[in-house]
Amino acid sequence: MVTICCSCKREKKKSGWEKPGPGRAGKLSHGFCPECHGKMLARLEEHSRRRGLQPFFSCSFSLPT
Ligand SMILES: [Zn+2]
Repeated sequence: MVTICCSCKREKKKSGWEKPGPGRAGKLSHGFCPECHGKMLARLEEHSRRRGLQPFFSCSFSLPT
């Protein structure tokens, strides 16, 4: 199982979050690297404060097969 960041598309490796290589095998799990997670939370907070809405975030992008 590989965890891929929804935002910057980096993959979680043992050494840390890295740019994905040419070949990708196995199942993918969508998540956020710590960096993007922080940014996303900050953006959601600001957005919901301005609009008075509940935070909304959709994680969707297509992966090459
Ligand atoms: Zn990221």
